[in-house]
Amino acid sequence: MSDPTCLFCKIVAGQIPAEVVHRTDDVLAFRDINPAAPTHILVIPIEHISSLAAAEDEHRELLGRIALAARDIAIEEGVSESGYRTVMNTGGDGGQSVHHLHLHLLGGRALSWPAG
Ligand code: 5GP
Ligand code: ZN
Repeated sequence: MSDPTCLFCKIVAGQIPAEVVHRTDDVLAFRDINPAAPTHILVIPIEHISSLAAAEDEHRELLGRIALAARDIAIEEGVSESGYRTVMNTGGDGGQSVHHLHLHLLGGRALSWPAG
């Protein structure tokens, strides 16, 4: 299911262009438009799920596929050995601005912690 008002559903549908780096039947990954690191990729479900908070137990396998897609993309991007960060911002305090679940994959530089 998709949400016609959702930015990332429009990217899935090809209505908004994006630099896609990985696509399967249920997962899409594309470069962030405003990268915070040399590698900054968003890994999303094709299906519209608004956030991790809205995910159901039935999404268990899909969430695993998203994580493993990030693992494979990190290898392709050459950051697997140097290290990288995966982040899923959720809701207001989590800093989520696009309400279609997405995993940020950040790498290519040393990242500070804790998050701001
Ligand atoms: P959030 O703040 O929800 O965790 O992350 C949303 C991310 O989507 C941000 O890093 C932002 O730069 C990215 N973004 C917002 N609009 C677009 C867009 O139209 N195309 C792409 N590729 N990324 C976008
Ligand atoms: Zn969506």
